[in-house]
Order: sequence, then structure tokens, then C-alpha cells
Amino acid sequence: MKRVLIVDDSAWISKTMKRALESGGYQVVDTARDGLEGVDFYAKYQPDVVLLDITMPNMDGRECLENIMEFDRGARIIMVSAIKEKGVVDECIAHGAFDFIQKPIDVRDEQQLAHLFATIERAAAAA
Ligand SMILES: [Mg+2]
Repeated sequence: MKRVLIVDDSAWISKTMKRALESGGYQVVDTARDGLEGVDFYAKYQPDVVLLDITMPNMDGRECLENIMEFDRGARIIMVSAIKEKGVVDECIAHGAFDFIQKPIDVRDEQQLAHLFATIERAAAAA
């Protein structure tokens, strides 16, 4: 069972994503509320894949990404954000993010859910 860490400052999004992932056969190791907790929880759980929001208080997703990659060059991190600026997405990819998924994700939409699961699978399979 693939182990996933969700990092998002929206408790509602984390809860919804957690439920959807669990119904898809994933284990959600925990949900972090900001980048600081994200870095902390990554070290604690060493999950297979991280779903990482960008806009968060205390430490945003970009800084969180950099910190996790510094801790583990092999970390598989998927940015999940409403941010549309290509520069921000490119910057995250350049810093080691595996991929980017556009928010909002409607977990009742089978196609969107399938895309999310497929991206997690690709990330988990990446060496
Ligand atoms: Mg956010």
C-alpha cells in the first residue's frame, strides 16, 4: 500500500483528499497544515509520495519543497495548487517536484480522480 502525506492549509481539502485516497487504496500517513509541519512529517513518516499545496501560512509549498528535497533528494512530491502562473510551476519542477496538479480537484469526478491516482502511481514508480 502506497503511503501518502498530504500538506495543505485547508482542513476541508485535506479531509476530502484523504477520504478519496483511502477509497483508492492509498494509506494517508498524516495531513500537515503548513510547510513547517510538512517538512517535519516528511522526516517522521518518509512517505512514498507527498501532495503539496503551494499557498500556505508559516512556510509555503515552494520553501517546503526545497527543504524536503534537501533532506531527501529522492523525495517524490506532487504540487497541488490553484496557482496558474507557469513561472511558479516551472520553479517547483526545477527544484525537484515530480509534477503539478491544478486545483480544485473534484474528487467526485472520476476522470480527475483517475488523473490524481495515475500521477501518484507515476511518482511512486519513479526512482
Ligand atoms: Mg493553500
